[in-house]
Amino acid sequence: MDIELNKPFIYDLTLEQIQDWTKEQGEPAFRAGQIFDWVYVKRVGSFEDMSNLPKPLRDKLLASFRFITLTEIAKFESKDGTMKFLFGLHDDHAIETVIMKHSYGNSVCVTTQVGCRVGCTFCASTLGGLKRSLTAGEIIAQVVQAQRILDPHNERVSSIVIMGIGEPFENYEATMQFLRTMIHPKGLNIGARHITVSTSGIVPNMLKFADENTQINLAISIHAPNDALRSKLMPVNRRFPFVDVMNACKYYIEKTGRRITFEYALIGGVNDRPEHAEELANVLQGMLCHVNLIPVNYVPERNYVRTPRDDIFEFQRILQKNNVNVTIRREQGHDIAAACGQLRAKHMEKTTG
Ligand code: SF4
Repeated sequence: MDIELNKPFIYDLTLEQIQDWTKEQGEPAFRAGQIFDWVYVKRVGSFEDMSNLPKPLRDKLLASFRFITLTEIAKFESKDGTMKFLFGLHDDHAIETVIMKHSYGNSVCVTTQVGCRVGCTFCASTLGGLKRSLTAGEIIAQVVQAQRILDPHNERVSSIVIMGIGEPFENYEATMQFLRTMIHPKGLNIGARHITVSTSGIVPNMLKFADENTQINLAISIHAPNDALRSKLMPVNRRFPFVDVMNACKYYIEKTGRRITFEYALIGGVNDRPEHAEELANVLQGMLCHVNLIPVNYVPERNYVRTPRDDIFEFQRILQKNNVNVTIRREQGHDIAAACGQLRAKHMEKTTG
């Protein structure tokens, strides 16, 4: 085996772990801060570039760790400025990362797993199952790479959404380490309130997340107003039923005082009828929440059609009438297949014939 592959990724280390390592090496304490700064603030891609470190220390770093190289397999740029990347990992797996331009800044959507085992019926990411989970460093590398792309334009990653390929709460520890590194004041220093983690409703880890005591936003992919329909659309609902997900949401709100977001993908004729809107309003009434309606993207393998425009507005109107906070998600990158997993699915088709 290539000796390089045995070395941990530098991005996989927290500042505290770098501190422990420098201490073991007999280096002064401030060296750890310098290394962290080179990795996240100056964003160099090699230990050789860490010019204020003594050469022997750079050599020790090189012998102990490696940088993650995300190889750009494909890049697509939408008319609206959305940039979608298909990145190759060291073991030839491919992941997607998206940079979205908003009036308030740049948002990056990251992937947490290679594929997904959750099996949502409207999602291309799950078609080939789960290959493996990403390490914290591999999730971090996507944001660092996005920031490097923005650096020449003097722009910053101002927000992060964990809504790319994979279920972050099935890769909980890596996701949490990723989040801690993102909000670290000595690192990329992205405000916790500008980060959203989205889950399909992995209840035990929703409860754990509520207890983490962070300001990070939580979004739930709900997509149905009741247990039976949700089980049809999202097999994960058989593991963690609708009522348990709702109770976990209530616990999160109670614990954090923060508003929760419900993602609701509208699928023509399936979950987008006025009676579904009424039922959803009934469930959510009085809850500190916000509903994000997402007109579903066409996945060729499934037989889903888009909800007509007027029906989307009608769904929104019913929720509003019942005092449920609701918006319709602005579609970005539609012309470049920016929805989760579509690019990777196309790439897999090509590489597997
Ligand atoms: S929507 Fe998210 S959780 Fe569901 S299958 Fe796709 S990647 Fe997995």
